[in-house]
Amino acid sequence: MRPLPAEPRLVLATRNAHKVAELSRILAAAGAGDGLAGLDAFPGAPEVPETGLTFADNALLKARAIAAYTGLPAVADDSGLCVDALNGMPGVFSARWSGRHGDDRANLDLVLGQIADVGDSRRGAQFVCVAALALPSSPPPGTDPHPQPGREWAVVGVLDGSLTREPRGSGGFGYDPVFVPAGAGLTTAQLAPADKDAISHRGRAFRALAPSIAQHAYT
Ligand code: IMP
Repeated sequence: MRPLPAEPRLVLATRNAHKVAELSRILAAAGAGDGLAGLDAFPGAPEVPETGLTFADNALLKARAIAAYTGLPAVADDSGLCVDALNGMPGVFSARWSGRHGDDRANLDLVLGQIADVGDSRRGAQFVCVAALALPSSPPPGTDPHPQPGREWAVVGVLDGSLTREPRGSGGFGYDPVFVPAGAGLTTAQLAPADKDAISHRGRAFRALAPSIAQHAYT
């Protein structure tokens, strides 16, 4: 378990300890990891439903709600798999494509079944992540009848690739066992975590957001 900073200065809007560890690693390497806390440091924080129709909508909804609740700059992400032969789906529905939220194996089997008769040259897909930063409104809510809305940033990271016909590898999560990055021979479930971070949609999005975090979240 990662120790909590004595004084959190930036909140990661997730309760997923793996995600907190992964994002802390990526942001620290990009020079924007000071005083980072996950949502576990704020037990009363609201669950923010992912009701948006785009990754950016959902990432901003979460970052905005957590910045408002904590009064601290907040970072959130939303990600998923976009399959060319399925017109970009499952997209924002990636985590619940089979109807059961978080059932990785059922989601993956359903996608493989849906493109079972799609030829090898048309099995393109992308992992997409939008990373968002929201600053709290200023002055804090309740202290002024006309608070200035906090500034917001959202950036996208994409990993291009294609889908296999059978799962391969035991690392990662979600659709990793069936996703082969362009130019690679291994699925992302067969890559070491650091090798996946270096090319992943999440790594790319958070590295692109890091300068805005460093410049605006700590002032
Ligand atoms: P969320 O961004 O945590 O809501 O994740 C959405 C869903 O997209 C996950 O549950 C996975 O099904 C899928 N997904 C997102 N990123 C990855 C990845 O790096 N590997 C495999 N699946 C992913």
